[in-house]
Amino acid sequence: MSNIYLDHNATTALDPRVLESMLSWMQRQSGNPTSRHVFGRSARDAVEHARTQVAEACGAYASQVIFTGSGTEANNFAIKGIAGNQTGSQILYSAIEHPCVSRPAKAMQQLGCSSDIIGVDTNGILSQSQLQKQLQTSTSVASVMLANNETGTIQNITEIAELVRKAGAFMHTDAVQGLGKVPLSFMDLNVHAMTISSHKIHGPQGAAALILDKRVDIQPLLHGGGQERGLRSGTENVAAIVGFGTACELAVANLTAFTHHTKMLRDTFELGLKALDVTIFGQQTSRLPNTSFFALDGIEGETLVTALDRQGYAVASGSACSSDSTEPSHVLLAMGVKPDLARGAVRVSFGAHNTLSQVTDFLTTLKNEILRLRQLTGIAA
Ligand code: PLP
Repeated sequence: MSNIYLDHNATTALDPRVLESMLSWMQRQSGNPTSRHVFGRSARDAVEHARTQVAEACGAYASQVIFTGSGTEANNFAIKGIAGNQTGSQILYSAIEHPCVSRPAKAMQQLGCSSDIIGVDTNGILSQSQLQKQLQTSTSVASVMLANNETGTIQNITEIAELVRKAGAFMHTDAVQGLGKVPLSFMDLNVHAMTISSHKIHGPQGAAALILDKRVDIQPLLHGGGQERGLRSGTENVAAIVGFGTACELAVANLTAFTHHTKMLRDTFELGLKALDVTIFGQQTSRLPNTSFFALDGIEGETLVTALDRQGYAVASGSACSSDSTEPSHVLLAMGVKPDLARGAVRVSFGAHNTLSQVTDFLTTLKNEILRLRQLTGIAA
């Protein structure tokens, strides 16, 4: 039995072309990009070339790209770095943010900042009226994700940024799930800061970036040798950054094909789901093309994920990137989903290499597993 990967929102396999671009940086004597000799200069050139590739993929200038070690780091940098520059500042974030936004926001309370949560509607769309009410003169940063990792729900970031700018605050968006799945332009979104991450687009783990408007007053998280314009010290991970650059170029080139293909797989899948009496979340609104998040009454998501894994299908329950807690998804609770149903949530996220026959086979397996688990629960009851 070969295993089928249907968990592309968690991470993706390295593209062979990305690996190829990285290999020479891992196999030969590479210099430190801060060194003046030929080895250092060529490593510097490689990093700067990747910076241009990353910038082009997300509608930014190369000078706005700050490389970090992960999307988590970039989000922490944006929240802590902006709010930390003022005492008594307010951080606003949506109720469906990834923990690497909500947790630093909460952590900043210990440094005298306040943090407030903006609610979402039943489709997971941010309440702009609540945001407007909560924006205060002390608001330093508002953070709203572009696309949710669980439901795939897409926010109107341009409109939200407009409100935040009018209040004189800085706007950050976590676009980790957007890059490579929807067209992405830092300039058009009109935000001050935006997070992207390499391993979601067939690039290596350990490379990411905060795209940052140079006028933003921000403190570094890491102090040291002054790399990345003094905003992120530490010797650059040259091979990973080079791979990130290649992955960005490929993601842009493949975007239209990715959208059509994964949407076709997802729609076929959800058509099949209809016969199974499941609830599909976020279906009424604009969503990532590859993502389906659904739940069945009376079957725990964790149980179904484990059962499907045994049958050779890798899917996720709730957020696969957060801790292994069995609490129901905070995203679904924020959307007003009852905890019992939220506990049944399962996420399927398709990738460019999945096929239609994998989807139809998966649907058959899913039906059988649901039937089996329902019979078991029936017996247990
Ligand atoms: N933000 C979102 C929406 C994510 O889905 C993830 C990871 O899954 C992250 C941030 C964290 O990114 P990284 O894994 O690069 O730390």
